[in-house]
Amino acid sequence: MSIVDFGSFVVDLTSRSKGFPVPGQTILGNSFRYGPGGKGSNQAVAAHRAGADVTFVTKLGKDAFGQIALDFYRKEGMNTDYILEEEGLSTSVAQIMVDEESAQNAIIVIIDACGKISEQDVEKCRKLVESANILLLQHEINMDAQYRVIDIAHRAGVRIVLNPAPAAPIPDEIMAKIDIVTPNETEAEVLTGIHVANAADARRAAECFLKKGVRQVVITLGAMGAYAFDGVREELLPRIPVEAVDTTGAGDAFNGGFAMALDAGMDLFTALRYGNVTGALSVTRYGTAPAMPTREEIDRLYAATYGTK
Ligand code: ADP
Repeated sequence: MSIVDFGSFVVDLTSRSKGFPVPGQTILGNSFRYGPGGKGSNQAVAAHRAGADVTFVTKLGKDAFGQIALDFYRKEGMNTDYILEEEGLSTSVAQIMVDEESAQNAIIVIIDACGKISEQDVEKCRKLVESANILLLQHEINMDAQYRVIDIAHRAGVRIVLNPAPAAPIPDEIMAKIDIVTPNETEAEVLTGIHVANAADARRAAECFLKKGVRQVVITLGAMGAYAFDGVREELLPRIPVEAVDTTGAGDAFNGGFAMALDAGMDLFTALRYGNVTGALSVTRYGTAPAMPTREEIDRLYAATYGTK
């Protein structure tokens, strides 16, 4: 059993200040932090900490920011064999400004290296992808590379899980090759045109995905929990009551825990529970990748919430 996560790595550069600068203004901020981010990377870390055998594929520049990724994965004990690097490209970055007064943020993401995954890069990963049990994808890499990987996995009968974030249109012929989509409510709305505010809306949005050929649908609903539909059975799972301090990366945690459970052979609705538990634990801590829970923490909250399997 194994997961291949083919996605983005982005260094998050986060400054905190009182208010935002207006154009032309320079202000003094209060603190600065940097660390590993990117939806692909966050989900790979979440699945790895949840106990899955994950190989993460991404592309970095040969620069100091790329080294942040390599150092982090080595510390985590993750496989770095398919972390591609290319001279002349820059590792992707996100400049995040947080206004400490309003808690609002303003973000500029520059996708460079992980948005320039070439046909040759994808070919280097062909055997890896073909031998996977699950292929986990998001939308932060270049679409041509994503479509190539989807095609390879689909032909090889690998189960494809697509977290369509950030929301981007998906051609019908690609959608038909996806086994499970896992949008949040906003992404579900962009992709189906249905505003998802309750279980009935989630059902209608899910049916829309099924009509396009997707086999199973999960919609994460933030503090409302998470929903799944397989064409016959549906379930809206309430959120687990925890003290939320930072919900960034909750969707990534959910997807990592969810993919781990699927990879371990659990059914959609059990995997939904693991996703819900992993997402809940992640919001109790600050940050994204460093906030991902361990398998032990997941098992404990799972047992306390849902009992033993
Ligand atoms: P995204 O980060 O993509 O917007 P969501 O906000 O939908 O994703 O959150 C993903 C999952 O994380 C939810 O489905 C839920 O399982 C969990 N989660 C999010 N916010 C909370 C919260 N306040 N309390 C408990 N669990 C939460």
